[in-house]
Amino acid sequence: MNKTSGAGVVIVGASLAGLTTAEGLRSEGYAGPLTLVGEEDRMPYNRPPLSKQVLAGTWGIDQTTMSEADQLERLGVQHLRAHRATAVDVAARTVTVGGVAEPFEHLVAATGVTARRLLNSHGVRGIHSLRTADDALALQQDLGDAGQVAVQVAVVGAGVLGCEIASAVRSAGHHVTLIGRSAKARFGQTGGHLSAMIAELLRENGVRMRVGVDVDEIESRDADGHKTVSALRLSDGSVVPADVVVVAIGCSPAVDWLAGTGIDISDGVLCDANGVAAPNIYAVGDVARWLDPVTGEARRVEHQATAIEQAHAVARLIVTGERTAPIVPLFWSELFGNRILVHGRLDPNLPLTVLAGDPAERRFVAATILRGQPTGLVGWNMPREFRQERARLVQHVVQQPVEATEAVKGSEIVKEGMVA
Ligand SMILES: Cc1cc2nc3c(=O)[nH]c(=O)nc-3n(C[C@H](O)[C@H](O)[C@H](O)COP(=O)(O)OP(=O)(O)OC[C@H]3O[C@@H](n4cnc5c(N)ncnc54)[C@H](O)[C@@H]3O)c2cc1C
Repeated sequence: MNKTSGAGVVIVGASLAGLTTAEGLRSEGYAGPLTLVGEEDRMPYNRPPLSKQVLAGTWGIDQTTMSEADQLERLGVQHLRAHRATAVDVAARTVTVGGVAEPFEHLVAATGVTARRLLNSHGVRGIHSLRTADDALALQQDLGDAGQVAVQVAVVGAGVLGCEIASAVRSAGHHVTLIGRSAKARFGQTGGHLSAMIAELLRENGVRMRVGVDVDEIESRDADGHKTVSALRLSDGSVVPADVVVVAIGCSPAVDWLAGTGIDISDGVLCDANGVAAPNIYAVGDVARWLDPVTGEARRVEHQATAIEQAHAVARLIVTGERTAPIVPLFWSELFGNRILVHGRLDPNLPLTVLAGDPAERRFVAATILRGQPTGLVGWNMPREFRQERARLVQHVVQQPVEATEAVKGSEIVKEGMVA
């Protein structure tokens, strides 16, 4: 069934979630006009390699490209590259792109998040974020050719992204200090249970850890007439010398273009359990805060697998009207060659039960278990066993959803993701 009129589907955000929605619409049989609006002047690309292979110097930036222009053309997608959406008129069903009001039948918000910056860092050279391909290229340039000259790198934020950046930059031969506000290296959901293992892994690979401290001041020197970072002064009075600083202190949802629409954008785009934010308006990926029908909470999940599943679910909903089963978050990461997988919710208040392998050997699968059923799983270098346990967890969650679609308004706001 195809429910579209001539205005078609407009997807704002031409990255993983936006591109996957477009592909999903076509594979579900949608034959109407499809427009993909993206503010970056690039073809859609994959972000996870930016903090891994690209930063470690094993991939060029082109290897992150997800779709070339001719592929989008074959898919019948009009890609408005380097175009920014600035406003939406819900009643008129138009989205303003480059000053022009474009009509839509369905609008999908897939605008992701933007990296938070350190206060007082404006105008100081050598201070980086890592969210975009341009960020990665600028950082690479400051780090110089990997392996030739080791520079002092301070990574601010000991969350998932900070730990990954520390791992990749250290692997490329640089001196790395990881600075975190909380007393432990937090690693997304695993932090409560595995922070000691993660800190040990980082330390034994030569990453210096400074946790439980804030950055109080950025010290700089003059280089060729430019203010350039030279050190960070921390809240305990100590000074960390730094030629390059990478800031990984979390992100803010890119929602300014939806202001004034009446949609709740207080922390991303609030949606029901099917990604619906308002009639004919949906959100997918990092910007989206879907109701979780299992917990009754609305949360954003900054993980790639969730972005893909949400995109397919919204595409199916638009084309067939079919609603989706609850999406269970899946996340993976890599630190010094160790593959870490997390599925579901690792409850910090429950003990971690080892299901296979041995944490001492850094090969194991473990779970938090409630009333005999796993709520969350972590796998460390044991992908096959992890997959087996995951299949059990998915089955459990699908069987246990609460009917909470209407609870979206009063729901507790929980944010989970790549935040320090
Ligand atoms: C360095 C890094 C490493 C990561 N590693 C992992 C990992 O190991 N595992 C994992 O699960 N996840 C990882 N992630 C997260 C993963 O990349 C995201 O979940 C995924 O990119 C989300 O896709 P998205 O399309 O929702 O958002 P994004 O990829 O952020 O894309 C949003 C796009 O919308 C554009 N946009 C914003 N506003 C507008 C506007 N008004 N008009 C037009 N366009 C706009 C942006 O420019 C951007 O191109 C990583 C992320 C980063 C940055």
